[in-house]
Amino acid sequence: MPDEPPVNAEGAAFFRSDEEGRPRELNNRHDWKGNADYFQWKVAPLTDGPKPEVIASPHREVRRFMRKVYQAMERTNPKPVRAVPKPIGKKPKAMPAPPPDAPVPCPRCFGQGLPWCDLCTGDGFVSPREARGFLEQHD
Ligand SMILES: [Zn+2]
Repeated sequence: MPDEPPVNAEGAAFFRSDEEGRPRELNNRHDWKGNADYFQWKVAPLTDGPKPEVIASPHREVRRFMRKVYQAMERTNPKPVRAVPKPIGKKPKAMPAPPPDAPVPCPRCFGQGLPWCDLCTGDGFVSPREARGFLEQHD
């Protein structure tokens, strides 16, 4: 049916109900799937917890009602509706290890590069060999 495009939506909702003056938090995940034949609403805990429950109906009035809710969500969304970017499959590469001869912070002035430092002469960095030599003398 052209007036019933499929609905595929999932997300979380944070409700507060009032049970005769006693407020109660209802925080759940929701997963909607609807087409021209049925509407299914899955309710699940946000993280670990009881197993999800599925409520489904083939009734036209239910499908229309849920579609109206979905359209109202689109209309009242404060931000323009946009596609959620797909997660990138690859993990970003870890930083490569520095080469073994890369300069290290000066152990004499603790990398501060002080002008009086006779090990790094104010650079703040020395070669690993120079650093090892200094540390061996000052152990
Ligand atoms: Zn230094």
